[in-house]
Amino acid sequence: MKTPLPDYLEHVLDECDGDDSGHLADYIPELANASPHRLALAMSTVDGEIYSVGDDDVEFTIQSMSKPFTYAYVLQQLGIDEVLEKVGVEPSGEAFNEISLGKDGRPKNPMINSGAITTHSLIPIKDNISSAEILRQFMSELAGRELCFDDSVYHSEIKTAYRNLSIGYMLRTVGILETDPVDIVNGYIRQCSILVTVKDLVRMGSVLANGGVDAQTGKRLLNRSVVRQVLSVMMSCGMYDAAGDWLTTVGIPAKSGVAGGILGVLPGQVSIAAFSPKLDEHGNSVRGIDMMERLSRDMGLHLMEGTPSAQTIVQSHYRTGQNASLSVYVLRGVLKFTEAEMLLRIFQREPVDQSTIIIDLTQISLIHDVGKRMFLEGVDRLIDDGHSLLLVDPEQRLDHARTHKDRVLHVYQDLDDLLEQKKGHHN
Ligand code: GLN
Repeated sequence: MKTPLPDYLEHVLDECDGDDSGHLADYIPELANASPHRLALAMSTVDGEIYSVGDDDVEFTIQSMSKPFTYAYVLQQLGIDEVLEKVGVEPSGEAFNEISLGKDGRPKNPMINSGAITTHSLIPIKDNISSAEILRQFMSELAGRELCFDDSVYHSEIKTAYRNLSIGYMLRTVGILETDPVDIVNGYIRQCSILVTVKDLVRMGSVLANGGVDAQTGKRLLNRSVVRQVLSVMMSCGMYDAAGDWLTTVGIPAKSGVAGGILGVLPGQVSIAAFSPKLDEHGNSVRGIDMMERLSRDMGLHLMEGTPSAQTIVQSHYRTGQNASLSVYVLRGVLKFTEAEMLLRIFQREPVDQSTIIIDLTQISLIHDVGKRMFLEGVDRLIDDGHSLLLVDPEQRLDHARTHKDRVLHVYQDLDDLLEQKKGHHN
C-alpha cells in the first residue's frame, strides 16, 4: 500500500493553483523578480516523516520566518527573563514594519521587525563569528543540512532598507539597542536572506512540534520552555495584523515571510509549510493561507478543537484469582492530567482491604510528567489503604516508582506471566 498523504497534498495544491490574486513584495527589488507561479506544500510528522509536493525543491528566502528561530536561539542562550526585558509578547495589531514601540518602551513582540531586530541584537557573539552566521549555523542544524545566504536578495534589501534602519535608530535612541543600529539591521537583513525549501521549513518546524527534539537524530536542540514561549508568540503575533483572523480560521501557530513562505507548527502533531510568492495586504502569501486553511479544516488541526481526551484510559478491569482477590487494571492510551484524574476517580472505588491490585501499563503510549506524578500519588494512597500493588511496566517508564516515598513497588514484564504466577501461588 502507498500512503495517500502525498495524493492529498497534491489535491490541496491543485485546488489552490488557479488563484492569481495578490502581489509580489516589491519593496525588496529582488523579490519582485520571483516567479509568481511557484507553489509548494510540505508536512512533517513529529516522528520525522516528511511529505512534500509541487516546487518542493525550490529555494526561497526565509525572511520573517527566521524570526521565531532567532527568538528561540536567544531564549535558549540567555533565558526567557533576560529576553523579556528587551522585547514584549503582546500582539501589535500593526503591520510587520510599523515604526512603533509598546507603551513600556519595548518593541511589542519578536515577530514584528522592531522586535526581531532587537532579538537579533541579543545574539551572544563569540569567536568573531557574525550574528547572522551564528543563526545560519543554528538553522542549518535544525534543517539537517547546510543552508546558504542569498547574497543578491540581501544586497537588494540593504540598498532600500530605509524603514528597517529607521526602526534601528529608534531602538538605539531609546536604549533597546546598545550598539551600532546599522550593523544590527544589516545582520537582521542577512538573517532574512537565508535560503530554504518547504522541506527545510517543515524539518525546522518539526523540532518545535516535537518539544525541542530533532526526531531524526534524537538530539535535544531546544528546551521545552523555550519551545512553548516561541509557539505562544507565533500563535498570538506570527501573522501580524491578521493574527486574530488566522487564529479563528486556521488555528495553528505560524509565521509568514514576504518571499511567500508560511510555516505552521502544531505542538505534538505536525509542522506544515506552504510557498507561493504573491502576498495579500498584510504581507502574507495568498495561496499559502488558502492551503493552510484547507489543511487545518480537512485534517482537524485547529488548536482550539482540542483532542477529546481518551475516555478509555482503563481498557479493562476485572477481578480474578482465588476469591477474586486480584483486581486487574489494563490501561491504554496517553496518561496526562485528564486521564490521570479519571483513573484516580476509578481507583477511589477500590474497597479498603488487603487485596492485590495489578496495573498493566504496557499499552500506555505516553506518560506526561503530571500524569506520572498523579498516578504515583494514587498508587501510594492505595498502598496506604492496605493494598499490595504490582505494576506491569516492561519499558520501566515508572522506574523511579520503585523507590517512590521509599515504597517498594514490584514491577513485572508481562501480565500473563504475572497472573500465572499469582494464581499458582494461591492454589
Ligand atoms: N526582510 C523583511 C523585512 O525586514 C522581512 C519581512 C517579512 O518577511 N515580513 O522587511
